Amino acid sequence: MACAPHPIERDMTPAIRKALDKLGLLRDIDLVLHLPLRYEDETRITPIASCREGQMVQIEAAVLNSEVQLQPRRQLVVTVQDASGECQLRFLHFYPSQQKAMAPGKRLRIHGEVRGGFWGRQMLHPQIRKAEGPLPAALTPIYPISKGLPQAYLRRMIAVALQRIQIEETLPGTVLALAGPPPIAAGHGAAAGSAWWPLHQALQFLHNPAPDVALQTLEDHSHPAWQRLKAEELLAQQLSQFKVRQTRAGLGAPALSPPADISSALPLHEQLLARLPFELTAAQRRVCAEIAADIAQPRPMHRLLQGDVGSGKTVVAAMAACLCIDAGWQCALMAPTEILAEQHFRKLTEWLSPLLAEREQSVAWLAGAQKKKERAAMLEAVAAGSAMLVVGTHAVIQDSVEFARLGLVLIDEQHRFGVEQRLSLRKRQSTAPEDARAHDKGMEPHMLMMTATPIPRTLAMTYYADLSVSTIDELPPGRTPIVTRLIAESRRDELIERLATQVAQGRQAYWVCPLIEESEALDLSNATATFEDLQQAMPGARIGLLHSRMPAADKQAVMAGFSAGEIGVLVATTVIEVGVDVPNASVMVIEHAERFGLSQLHQLRGRVGRGSKESACILLYATGDNGQLGDTAKERLRAMAQTNDGFEIARRDLEIRGPGEFMGARQSGAALLRFADLDTDQALLEWARQLAPQMLRQQPRLAELHMQRWLGGKWDYLKA
Ligand code: ADP
Ligand code: MG
Repeated sequence: MACAPHPIERDMTPAIRKALDKLGLLRDIDLVLHLPLRYEDETRITPIASCREGQMVQIEAAVLNSEVQLQPRRQLVVTVQDASGECQLRFLHFYPSQQKAMAPGKRLRIHGEVRGGFWGRQMLHPQIRKAEGPLPAALTPIYPISKGLPQAYLRRMIAVALQRIQIEETLPGTVLALAGPPPIAAGHGAAAGSAWWPLHQALQFLHNPAPDVALQTLEDHSHPAWQRLKAEELLAQQLSQFKVRQTRAGLGAPALSPPADISSALPLHEQLLARLPFELTAAQRRVCAEIAADIAQPRPMHRLLQGDVGSGKTVVAAMAACLCIDAGWQCALMAPTEILAEQHFRKLTEWLSPLLAEREQSVAWLAGAQKKKERAAMLEAVAAGSAMLVVGTHAVIQDSVEFARLGLVLIDEQHRFGVEQRLSLRKRQSTAPEDARAHDKGMEPHMLMMTATPIPRTLAMTYYADLSVSTIDELPPGRTPIVTRLIAESRRDELIERLATQVAQGRQAYWVCPLIEESEALDLSNATATFEDLQQAMPGARIGLLHSRMPAADKQAVMAGFSAGEIGVLVATTVIEVGVDVPNASVMVIEHAERFGLSQLHQLRGRVGRGSKESACILLYATGDNGQLGDTAKERLRAMAQTNDGFEIARRDLEIRGPGEFMGARQSGAALLRFADLDTDQALLEWARQLAPQMLRQQPRLAELHMQRWLGGKWDYLKA
């Protein structure tokens, strides 16, 4: 596609180049896949006299008069006239060059919305061009732009790209025959014989649609040209997902199965089962078996373990670690926050250390805030291979950490890790230092990711074709359901009073302070104020304070005090959101609940209801000036009160927020679909899923071309 630069490219300023870069418009194909947001009809001229109020029209008229008025504010007022009547154009901002272009006597084509004000017909800030040459034959595309990139410039660039690009059809009949018939909605005037428009034709059309097209079908993307584009996009994504899966299947991993000679002690996982104060639920046993079968294969496992908050994922992770250690390989467990990692470390040490000690093995701890000497000792044990389980924050995956034989990576609360961290984990996997596995060359560790935010089926299908999923669909027995109440901020004092009584009776509570996204400092002062408030209001109780800015040691001390039951109320910012486990805590108060996302509220609520005590979750909400809560906010909080089912909540969250937000789009925007919509395009998605693996097998060249065309440099993000 490398051609001599077109004149327009020679005009490119650094600002334009930067804007193009930002929009990812690097190749001709990127430009032609940059589709219009909407269109303007400049194919016809409307006589001024027949323009109706509010109508978008193009008129052609001569300038009668042009003057700068100073009242009521400075503005350029231009009067134009055609054979049928007059119209006034008003510009609140204007350049001398524009004034000149609209000097009396000039003939103009003017495009804009007509207002029929008191002074006769007017247009505010219409678009102006010289009346020369024939009218365009197609609708004028309006593209998404960004700062520094003029619409007209981009339009010309796209037109040039469209003209010189050679588009090889990646879906010829031979490919299409591999899947069922395309699920095109009937009645859209698809070309007879074949329901798919060829890509080239679809693109030509979408950039320059004929004026007689039903605009509605372009707006709602139901037009066959759009269908083709959406199907293309979904197919590219499915192909890339299957490709990643294929690549993974070609990689080696240690087969983590029990050693053949079981002469010695009981396997570690059985010893662990014997030590646990509870029996695994049927669901836990099932997912353990799924994981065991998977890691016994000489291919890297890539599995998501999803289970509602409190369903007992940690012990499943511990069982997997035992299997790995028994097979003679090291295991790493990562958590997104230091508090959570620390809690895992304590629990796993309690469960496994005595067992490992008998074998002269240990559990190691790695975190960002760690004394140099301690860290060095840990690193040595990890490199020597005596630390069989390594627990920590993402410090575990830093380059300085070398494992002797890393066989399994467990990632808790996977969705909380940033895309960057997930990427570096993948990179780390495939570029681990040579010496680390001199005798196991080309081996990748298995991966198990845990989350309490289940991925709805359609999302899983689209974004994680590469992933196997295990689901814990039952809670351990003996849990009493959590009662959720919405309480207005105005009843705060009453609430504190009731809470004081309950704490006096030995109950423990979390009090989560509002999330203030813009400012961590405000977050903190808020928490501190609440902390002082509660201390005053409950002189009999011990109140603790926990926030992310505290030194690690202080955090640990407060958590330990709360775990031991010495602290009655723990005031915290959202640092406790994920994973924290103190079974005796039975009340959760969330301030300004309306500011949180549903899944986040569910995570927070999941901190209680872990013991046999009846638990309550209080959602304190602030009303607006009118004493009302906004509609969406109300809908969200009601959903929380109505169900304790995390899967249901995830579904509603997705409905309310859309997939972008849900997936943490700010980071992974590149991986999101631009054109297809998972709600309306399910049939296309199914079609793409069916076609992708077959196309990879039977038409690998076209499959590769298709992915290149659509994904270009965005590969990495899709893999994270
Ligand atoms: P999550 O899935 O949210 O990570 P945890 O692993 O923290 O949940 O488990 C929640 C609580 O349930 C912990 O206190 C844990 O010890 C306990 N637990 C886990 N499995 C069982 C079980 N089968 N029976 C009883 N309690 C269990
Ligand atoms: Mg957990």
